[in-house]
Amino acid sequence: MQKLNRTLLENNTHMIPAKITSNIIFPAFHLLKGDGLWSKIKEYEKSQWFSYDRLKEIQHQKLNALLKHSFENVDYYYKLINKYGIDINKSGCYNNFLQIPFLTKKKINENREQLIANTVKKRDLISNSTSGSTGENLFFFQDKAAMLPRQAMVWRNQKWTNTLYTDRQVYLWGAAFDIKKNNSIRGKIHTWFNQSISLSSYELSDRSMAEYIKILKSHKPKLLISYPGPLTTFAEYLIKNRETISGIKAIITSAETLYPWQKSTIAEAFKCNIYDRYGCREFGTIAHECEKHEGYHINMERFFLEVIGEDGMPVKSGKSGEVVITDLDNYCFPFIRYKIGDIAVCSDSICSCGRGLPLLEKIEGRVFDMIIGPNGNKVAGTFWTLALRSVSGVKNFQIEQTDVNNIKIRLIQNHNYSGKSEKKIFSIIKKKLGSEINIEFIYVDNIDLTKSGKRRFVISSL
Ligand SMILES: [Zn+2]
Repeated sequence: MQKLNRTLLENNTHMIPAKITSNIIFPAFHLLKGDGLWSKIKEYEKSQWFSYDRLKEIQHQKLNALLKHSFENVDYYYKLINKYGIDINKSGCYNNFLQIPFLTKKKINENREQLIANTVKKRDLISNSTSGSTGENLFFFQDKAAMLPRQAMVWRNQKWTNTLYTDRQVYLWGAAFDIKKNNSIRGKIHTWFNQSISLSSYELSDRSMAEYIKILKSHKPKLLISYPGPLTTFAEYLIKNRETISGIKAIITSAETLYPWQKSTIAEAFKCNIYDRYGCREFGTIAHECEKHEGYHINMERFFLEVIGEDGMPVKSGKSGEVVITDLDNYCFPFIRYKIGDIAVCSDSICSCGRGLPLLEKIEGRVFDMIIGPNGNKVAGTFWTLALRSVSGVKNFQIEQTDVNNIKIRLIQNHNYSGKSEKKIFSIIKKKLGSEINIEFIYVDNIDLTKSGKRRFVISSL
């Protein structure tokens, strides 16, 4: 906490108005530095208003270029494309693209060296990894050329929240990697521009939350960025203690599924707009809510996104399926048709904001968070959070499937909980998964977060 307060004091010495730093110093810094970030941000700010057809054309050109590069320079894809006899040079190679088998975490971990393009120098590779808290751990690479569009897209999406590039930010965040990164030179510059501070989402005790309130009131951020789980805990604390933090223009939630009940609790506590971001360690921001909140705009200049059913074919609008991503910018370690492990509902609606970027209707959670009943039913995380929250007396819970016939429920109860609540939960679960399912209730005072500080409501060990 002392360290945080010190950062806070240092940041308070930079009292230049945000509009000046945002509109003049921020672009000038990047133009002088020659890193290309400012022109990339401008490019994306322009292209978001292109028609869907024009964006599709840009996307297909980028896809063709990526496939050609991967075939010529990446051993893994050279072998794969040859093995399946896919002619990627044929005009309209999109249909051929769909013949490329899906990439998985397991395949990457088994073929990591072969996935590195032979055009890249080893010293230029930037290693990165996923936490592995919700599935298999993954190690992969990026380079500067891949990082630039990734960073520029974060800025484009952030502007949708009606905040300035350099508005003060607070992160309520848990990933040790990100907090460590903030100590790098790049991180320090970012911190200076945004006068941003990070608060750990690991330890949300009454004491630390009281301290966080003081920090927020003193730092006066315009933008708050957080995992939904810890932010909901914090919001509940604010409501319970009748505390308000004024001046926050927007909240970005990210890295976990944002459930409707969490959104309303956060909105009640902070009284500002909440924008959900769909992103991941591998790619940065994939899709983001705009000011109209009619779904998640897919950043299609950067990604080819598919939503597939169990048969591997695209699902219809309004149906849920597994998300498959092709990163159109990472040439040093290409991700082509990568099963990211998330379930989303696709949409053919057009957002009233006028952007040509297509929409995802909602993000339903992780593939690993599916509970499979002895009756064969597969039930996504969103169902469980809605169903169990509707039971009287359930304060918080975690459902874990240990094998196909057994689930454990860790439950934090409040004073409204009774025998009737337990019976109701039994009935909800048996109705959904079949009467053969065994349910073990474990009543607890606390449910541990993952090592990256996330809250998991559903865990499947299948
Ligand atoms: Zn929109």
